[in-house]
Amino acid sequence: MSTLPLSREMPTVTDTFGRPLRSLRISVTDRCNLRCKYCMPEEEYTWLPRETILSFEEIDALAGIFTELGVDKVRLTGGEPLLRKDLSGLMRMLRRNPRIKDLALTTNGVLLAEQAQAFHDAGLHRVTVSLDTLKPERFKALTRRDSFQQVLEGIEMAVRVGFKGLKFDTVAILGYNDDELVDLIEYGKRFGGEVRFIEYMDVGGATDWSMDKVLSRAAILRLLSQHYGPIEPVLEKSSAPAQRFALPDGTTFGIIASTTTPFCATCDRSRLTADGMWFLCLYATEGIDLRQPLRAGASRDEIKALLLAGWQARRDRGAEQRKELERVGIRARLVEIERLRQDPRLEMHTRGG
Ligand code: SAM
Ligand code: SF4
Ligand code: SF4
Repeated sequence: MSTLPLSREMPTVTDTFGRPLRSLRISVTDRCNLRCKYCMPEEEYTWLPRETILSFEEIDALAGIFTELGVDKVRLTGGEPLLRKDLSGLMRMLRRNPRIKDLALTTNGVLLAEQAQAFHDAGLHRVTVSLDTLKPERFKALTRRDSFQQVLEGIEMAVRVGFKGLKFDTVAILGYNDDELVDLIEYGKRFGGEVRFIEYMDVGGATDWSMDKVLSRAAILRLLSQHYGPIEPVLEKSSAPAQRFALPDGTTFGIIASTTTPFCATCDRSRLTADGMWFLCLYATEGIDLRQPLRAGASRDEIKALLLAGWQARRDRGAEQRKELERVGIRARLVEIERLRQDPRLEMHTRGG
């Protein structure tokens, strides 16, 4: 049986492992104004053809069908979502759907200062800014762009216009930013925000990935406790990827340990690319094309049936399978560059992180 009653009007669809369909990450563009080395390390990329990119009306229509099957958390991402013109217009459309209880955004922050007010006015609930370093020169080396000051201004503006509980996502990489974990937590505190350290993942675009660059959850905790003293896990029941911890002064932070301690068993997330391909796992090589039926005039019920069948057949547990490879000593980068050029949807920046 794969539909469970959640509330009187909202069924929850579950996959083969009983995991509900709850959270949808929508990538609104595959383009980006940074070139982070862990995500877009190459010089050249193959972009999704412009005519394949879903309009806001198409995104809103698909999101609406997803919410009829239980999705109540939507996160806008990219590439860099703020490169999409009038993103606040899409937010306004999505906020008209009462089934979406949590509308969030993940951004690199570069264009946030100019758009934060419009996002707040449009009803966006939450903002996550990716922030890997507080050193301008390091930022430039990592992202290959000189936009550090704009990111800081973006964060300040987000707070000023009224966003509360900002999150800062930091990909923790050994030999790169392992000396900044404390500084990042202190920076987060100043803005009432929570830092989440993400283990470096061997996803599509991470062609520079190797296990010896991964700063593990255990190492992150060790480094932080050397500075702060004993760290306690925060006990909570959640399907969120971040496990949360508290410092002795009560400050909390999260660790997303996808590489060393996968959490596939509770994963309720799926991803929609900017061209309408639905991926059931960050590591999936095949997706379900929703653009084609949508543009061919398929009815709402027909698309709903596609989603239902897709989720009910889901068996993905990509990060756990990667971990199993590590045990037998053959964990290396996921996809070779030539294959990424042929299919840009395998890229992290195309499927939204
Ligand atoms: N451009 C936006 C940003 O950077 O916030 C949104 C898209 S980005 C693909 C979403 C998230 O994926 C970012 O927080 C980024 O740090 C993370 N990410 C990208 N490549 C990663 C990797 N190899 N390992 C872990 N996280 C990664
Ligand atoms: Fe960096 Fe995000 Fe752009 Fe990837 S998509 S290069 S993580 S800013
Ligand atoms: Fe979910 Fe796939 Fe990530 Fe596992 S690897 S947590 S199944 S998206």
